[in-house]
Amino acid sequence: MLVMDTCIGCGLCVPYCPMNAIEVKDRKAVIDLDECVECGVCLKAKVCPKDALKNDETYTEARLLRKTFSDPWVTHKSTNVLGRGTEEMKTNDVTNRFGKGVCGIAVELGRPGTGTRFYDVEKVAKACAASNVEFEPYNPVTSLMTNVKTGEMNKEFINEKALSAIVEFICPNDKVVQVLKDIKKVSAELDTVFSLDICCMAEDDGSFPMYAMIKEAGFTSSLNGKTNIGMGRMQLKF
Ligand code: SF4
Ligand code: SF4
Repeated sequence: MLVMDTCIGCGLCVPYCPMNAIEVKDRKAVIDLDECVECGVCLKAKVCPKDALKNDETYTEARLLRKTFSDPWVTHKSTNVLGRGTEEMKTNDVTNRFGKGVCGIAVELGRPGTGTRFYDVEKVAKACAASNVEFEPYNPVTSLMTNVKTGEMNKEFINEKALSAIVEFICPNDKVVQVLKDIKKVSAELDTVFSLDICCMAEDDGSFPMYAMIKEAGFTSSLNGKTNIGMGRMQLKF
């Protein structure tokens, strides 16, 4: 994000930045570009009386990467999906990708206020890769990996920052406890927060054995259900 010379330093844009990247110095807004994730919130808020905030039309690849992960109006080239660029787990009632015996796991790193650097994303990806999980191919984080077996990511972007990024993979149920323990272990090294999503089918009797696995790995869980309306036909097996 750029600040034009028309800025009068009124400070109205400052509270809208989720990364606290804007401050007023000498009656001008100054943006810390190392913290700015190019989310565009300051601009979309339309509070600037002087139209002084502008998207940089000459984005480098690195700045564009920040934007695609942080601005929900921008589509990821790797997946053609807006926002954080992945919908695989959320649409499992349509895709049926995570059937019996496997589950989908997503680690959502970063939130407004903290964001996430890609070196932290890589730490989590590497920890998960140690159990030979299969990373979701239609996911922008996976597209940044130089090695999907190890979770190693493109070093060119490793210090870049985004509002949020999701490591997503399919995992056999018998590896879940180990993977969750590895995520728990690496979490102590992260400079950000994360939430963990696990997508699985209920057993025939309606129970969720995953609860016990999550507890064994040291996490607490809450059950969330989602019903997609008009997104497709459920693939129920009788
Ligand atoms: S684009 Fe987003 S992160 Fe950058 S200054 Fe504006 S609100 Fe802050
Ligand atoms: S709202 Fe506009 S004029 Fe006010 S500080 Fe921000 S950029 Fe400058």
